[in-house]
Amino acid sequence: MTSVRTATARRDRTANLPRARLVERVDYTDDLMVIKMEPQGFEFNFKPGQYCTLGLDGIERAYSIASAPHEPFLEIFVELVPDGELTPRMWQMDIGDTMSIRPRAKGIFLMDRTATQHLMLGTVTGVAPFVSIVRDFIHRGHTGHHFYLLEGASYLDELVYDTELASTAAQHSETLTFVPAISRPTEERNAAWTGATGRLNNIVADYVKKFDLNQDDTLIYACGHPGMIESSREIVTATGWRWTEERFWKE
Ligand SMILES: Cc1cc2nc3c(=O)[nH]c(=O)nc-3n(C[C@H](O)[C@H](O)[C@H](O)COP(=O)(O)OP(=O)(O)OC[C@H]3O[C@@H](n4cnc5c(N)ncnc54)[C@H](O)[C@@H]3O)c2cc1C
Repeated sequence: MTSVRTATARRDRTANLPRARLVERVDYTDDLMVIKMEPQGFEFNFKPGQYCTLGLDGIERAYSIASAPHEPFLEIFVELVPDGELTPRMWQMDIGDTMSIRPRAKGIFLMDRTATQHLMLGTVTGVAPFVSIVRDFIHRGHTGHHFYLLEGASYLDELVYDTELASTAAQHSETLTFVPAISRPTEERNAAWTGATGRLNNIVADYVKKFDLNQDDTLIYACGHPGMIESSREIVTATGWRWTEERFWKE
């Protein structure tokens, strides 16, 4: 009885919410997809780095927005959690299906302009807010800040945004330095990998030195895997670096 009542209460909570329609879906691996959602009949305003709240069958979860505000659709990079409540339902979605969407974006994981050097650590889907921030900054033609983006994943096909970010870094070298890193270089799935290796928490201190960052003018951001965040935070805050983070789940 309890579960029936819970499900009913959830349905009631989202029944009157606006909907967003799935307009594009690209599956990168069995458990990673990028979807584009079109809010139906209203304008969804957000700042780069914020998240939206999407739902199916009354089950709602937070999703960072990878697109920038000037883009027509909300782009979301989603990881399947096989035992999860919502993501297995999202994996069943086809083009044209809709999800509930809370009308207001949330979150304070934004670009902080009190620094001009921004070292960003993102694991797998945790790269999403940084993609939005970088796309928006470049779109607006802003200058005077530099993003150093370290993107980490176990396997090269989980990086997903690496082609875009490498291209942006090549075209806007004064704004973006991009380093993708793979943590399991010896596995067959990574045989083609020639880039950086190691978990972000194990390489962050090296890159702080390599990038020659100025501590008074740098903010370090971390997003995604809570273990990477906790470990990186301990390492860099112990030596005085300013820090901000967004955890996607609790361990
Ligand atoms: C601010 C914020 C932004 C987020 N942005 C994104 C995003 O851009 N993309 C995205 O895919 N997810 C994002 N998440 C996570 C998302 O909200 C859901 O938690 C996730 O999709 C799992 O939902 P679920 O209902 O399938 O699993 P649940 O039923 O909620 O979770 C089942 C269990 O899995 C754990 N878990 C949740 N996510 C993961 C994961 N990725 N890997 C391993 N264990 C996990 C939970 O802690 C829980 O113990 C974000 C979370 C927050 C708080």
